[in-house]
Amino acid sequence: MYDINAINLPKNHPRLKSLLIRDKLVAGFKNGLVVQQGLMAHGRGEAFDYLLGEKSMKYAKLAIKTAAAVLFLAKLPIISVNGNIAALCPREIVELSNITNTKIEVNLFYHNEKRKQAIANNLKKHGAKEILGMKIESHKHIKGLESSRKVVDKDGIYKADVVLVPLEDGDRCIKLKQLGKTIITFDLNPFSRTSQTADITIIDNVVRGIIELIRISKKISNKDDKYLRKIVNDFDNKKNIALSILQINNNLLKNIINYE
Ligand code: ATP
Ligand code: MG
Repeated sequence: MYDINAINLPKNHPRLKSLLIRDKLVAGFKNGLVVQQGLMAHGRGEAFDYLLGEKSMKYAKLAIKTAAAVLFLAKLPIISVNGNIAALCPREIVELSNITNTKIEVNLFYHNEKRKQAIANNLKKHGAKEILGMKIESHKHIKGLESSRKVVDKDGIYKADVVLVPLEDGDRCIKLKQLGKTIITFDLNPFSRTSQTADITIIDNVVRGIIELIRISKKISNKDDKYLRKIVNDFDNKKNIALSILQINNNLLKNIINYE
């Protein structure tokens, strides 16, 4: 087992948190959860996190609160787990699943049975009881999708009304929307097709954002449907995405001013 605690990072490094997250992914790669392409996808996320200021901003917190309300209102909510998410926040996935009664399904872009099993084992190690997407006899295909992400569980994503798809592939996000599902995503890139297509786009690092999602879910878990519906009705995803782009813009402008 590759152990991230064994990595010696200088404690005063300005990017310490970012480096620690990166090492979780490297550990996930060495332990068979993450593919090489996943490391690169993480790099794209890191770049946007840098531009966004590496903090959970107001627009992210609003999307997170709305996501919690949507999960509670759902009939069959599912969290779609890939290798990166399984490496970055397995304990949080299980906790969120328990609080919001959301089922966990493993779904991979780069399919490989061994990796799927390693991801499921990691989730089980962190307390997951039921993991969908594992049994071949439960597999269904989403028509019109080329990648292996077309393979979904008949008792999970296939019949879900709400799907939480962190770090998602744009093609599938569009397809799931066309099938009438409500989509929640974590994506640091406000320009990606996933961000632009989802109903609730959480522009935040999933490592920070999922902790906030757990916190707010606990806080509103006893609220009635009227209260939850008001949160959802008041939310404007396009405006929220625009606010994140303005944040990038402001951060860039601040740096130009510093040069004057
Ligand atoms: P799309 O397919 O939606 O058009 P893409 O092809 O640009 O997007 P993918 O590689 O399919 O991107 O998906 C990875 C996405 O996940 C990227 O948009 C990246 O910014 C985002 N991402 C990577 N790491 C994180 C993270 N830790 N938290 C949140 N988002 C992340
Ligand atoms: Mg993509």
